[in-house]
Amino acid sequence: VGEGGEITYKKIQSSQIMASIQLGIQHAIGGLASKPERDLLMQDFMTVETTNFPHEGSNHTPAHHYSEFKFKTYAPIAFRYFRDLFGIQPDDFLMSMSSAPLRELSNPGASGSIFYLTNDDEFIIKTVQHKEGEFLQKLLPGYYLNLDQNPRTLLPKFFGLYCYQCNSKNVRLVAMNNLLPSSVKLHQKYDLKGSTYKRKASKTERQKNSPTYKDLDFMEHHPEGIFLEADTYNALIKTMQRDCRVLESFKIMDYSLLVGIHNLDEAQREKTEARKRTDSGQSDGEDEVEPKSSGLNRTRSINRQRLVAHSTAMESIQAESEPIDEEEDVPPGGIPARNARGERLLLFLGIIDILQSYRLRKKLEHTWKSMIHDGDTVSVHRPSFYAQRFLDFMGKTDTVSVHRPSFYAQRFLD
Ligand code: ATP
Ligand code: CA
Ligand code: CA
Repeated sequence: VGEGGEITYKKIQSSQIMASIQLGIQHAIGGLASKPERDLLMQDFMTVETTNFPHEGSNHTPAHHYSEFKFKTYAPIAFRYFRDLFGIQPDDFLMSMSSAPLRELSNPGASGSIFYLTNDDEFIIKTVQHKEGEFLQKLLPGYYLNLDQNPRTLLPKFFGLYCYQCNSKNVRLVAMNNLLPSSVKLHQKYDLKGSTYKRKASKTERQKNSPTYKDLDFMEHHPEGIFLEADTYNALIKTMQRDCRVLESFKIMDYSLLVGIHNLDEAQREKTEARKRTDSGQSDGEDEVEPKSSGLNRTRSINRQRLVAHSTAMESIQAESEPIDEEEDVPPGGIPARNARGERLLLFLGIIDILQSYRLRKKLEHTWKSMIHDGDTVSVHRPSFYAQRFLDFMGKTDTVSVHRPSFYAQRFLD
């Protein structure tokens, strides 16, 4: 946060970054239209295109009233191919990215990254470090070899890598899929690594409106875990195993499973409460229970098809969606589950923050931490160990497990 209270990143106002990258991306997508579709070549992964954006505009760029900047687009043809793989039409991508202002998300991470969300809720733009950007560039050919074979995955889907340059500062950005629909109230949110060392949300995080909790919090909130139907459970675990194998092959660590939980029964109770309050004349209560983007906006986003193919949690794990309840006004694609009390849940999830490679890490960090603490609980560890511990935690009977028979009975009676 800068002097005037406004958010800054590398001393540049966030609002300026937002508006400038929208111009940059708009220009980059527009420029692609003149390049015919063709098969990907290896060199497409290495290309970088740079455009100047002077105040007064140029033959190719519009005039603007922000600081002058340069905008770099990495591997434009390769990313076009990847967007195509996920069914994203150029016009739709352009609309998402530049037709309405971006929204800034508060980031619970320690890295200081800034997250922007497109107005239609489809894409997230995250600032990344120099090393992470470089790593993604190197990762691209291999990563997409994998995606091409198997677009159903919980791994992040990257749709663009850019660099905004202003006053000799570099702001690197990745565009990716948004996992958590903002139109649905998430009663709980977790960032899980499978580690228990220092994995508790900070006091400041807890005080937030919608905190992101961590592993130890999950174990406290859900001591018996979360329950899935056998088929769904198997699909989820199989997908995570496959994804972790890919991450391990790239020596990637420190990733998390991001889990957003919508509790259908709780939402029902909130609605009833709100109605009671309205009936008794205290009509101002309604706003508190409804998610922020309720009303018209919400209805529209629920009824509309997601822009990105295979991108909901349910599609990512290749499971058949059992219709929950036709009347529920939540977007499709959440994974149906139950908590220990038998309440109906919808899970929105995916793997995030995968741009840390073990090879890029300072060796010291590992040595020091493992000397001080028990090696098993240190979250900086060998990639294979990391992957195994991650999978062990997620599949453990007290994290996610198969519905007990009583749940089937209950659902039958419901
Ligand atoms: P750190 O390196 O300190 O862990 P970071 O700045 O690299 O943090 P991430 O771990 O990528 O940030 O993400 C931080 C938070 O941002 C997540 O816990 C989640 O709440 C949100 N987030 C990240 N990626 C997504 C996504 N694709 N969709 C929805 N929310 C996301
Ligand atoms: Ca993280
Ligand atoms: Ca990170």
